[in-house]
Amino acid sequence: MYRIKRETMESIILASNNTYPNEFFSLLGGDKKTGIIDELVVVPATYGRNYTAVKSWLIPIDSRVIGSVHSHPSPNAYPSMADLSSFTKFGDFHLIAAYPYDLKSIAAFDSRGKQQEFIVV
Ligand SMILES: [Zn+2]
Repeated sequence: MYRIKRETMESIILASNNTYPNEFFSLLGGDKKTGIIDELVVVPATYGRNYTAVKSWLIPIDSRVIGSVHSHPSPNAYPSMADLSSFTKFGDFHLIAAYPYDLKSIAAFDSRGKQQEFIVV
């Protein structure tokens, strides 16, 4: 199970609120061996309502990238078809922060869209 550092989770919640009503997107960085996620790797992206296009060719190849996080400006925390196709590009652990962006509205998925458990440490 992945463990997410509290400061990282707080940054996700803050960024989701700051970006609302648009989507926030970032990659998640951490230690693949221990499964601890401790940083946001912010990447160039085009934001819009219900729309985030990531310029994936601009993302540095970083061995600390474990997955991604993005926000949904709605209470729906489930991945869209577009989300599932982007999940396969960015690792195997993906958070979706749904409105109103608290711990209960954040869900995690693997790159196939299967829900994953996580803990905040
Ligand atoms: Zn989405």
